[in-house]
Amino acid sequence: MELALVTGASRGIGRATALLLAQAGYCVAVNYRQREAEAQQVVAAIEAQGGKAFTVQADIADEAQVVRMFQQLDRYEAPLKVLVNNAGILFQQCRTEDLTAERLQRVFATNVTGTFLCCREAVKRMGTQHGGSGGAIVNVSSAAARTGAPGEYVDYAASKGAMDTLTKGLSLEVAAQGIRVNGVRPGFIYTEMHADGGEPGRVDRLASVIPMGRGGQPQEIAEAILWLTSDAASYITGTIIDAAGGR
Ligand code: NAD
Repeated sequence: MELALVTGASRGIGRATALLLAQAGYCVAVNYRQREAEAQQVVAAIEAQGGKAFTVQADIADEAQVVRMFQQLDRYEAPLKVLVNNAGILFQQCRTEDLTAERLQRVFATNVTGTFLCCREAVKRMGTQHGGSGGAIVNVSSAAARTGAPGEYVDYAASKGAMDTLTKGLSLEVAAQGIRVNGVRPGFIYTEMHADGGEPGRVDRLASVIPMGRGGQPQEIAEAILWLTSDAASYITGTIIDAAGGR
């Protein structure tokens, strides 16, 4: 059995992705930062459908914790073949003139540094030049990387833009090592990320501007992620798929 690590997998898009990867036959490492009970529930759901999974704790913004998490994965006989960098944070909408450096640093620490650290550790294990047998990395970006999210969260949008550039650059660096690196840019997806959006009616307003007339479900993003990890996408690297209902 091969290993797949999904960061921030205790809920939302990460949870849906963990369930699909388990159905595809991977033993799934369900990463969580604080929500241990929810992560255990994801493992239980995977086991209930006949799959294999375990939880692995780490705040991906913390280098020592990321290194420790990958060392934990090394204890399993199975090779790491898939990494889904899903964990991400978004704060309440805020105009740039009110944005603090602290908030900016927190957003970048998780969305950019955390993604980078997990990519680095995965490449060291997947790369054929390191004795690995290749693999697939998928970075969960955002439609905000394209729009810039003016007046809402330019910090978050910029962090996702940085992720997209990381996806592109890393894909070229590791292409000859048998590792494919791609991304998915979700639009507006119904998850708890929007539970504390600030402005009343915000969720309806976000959904109303989507050409397909609705927000997406976590499962719809997980399907795109699964496809990018699969052999069906064996000749695709450095690509970022928009999964945003036409937005
Ligand atoms: P969510 O808030 O439900 O899930 C995010 C998960 O990441 C949570 O489990 C959270 O605990 C975890 N996480 C956050 N910081 C972490 C850290 N430092 N270390 C480990 N785990 C951490 O949100 P979601 O909507 O499922 O978001 C998943 C990804 O999709 C995020 O990267 C988000 O930016 C992206 N995205 C979501 C939407 C949307 O509309 N929901 C749109 C575009 C992009």
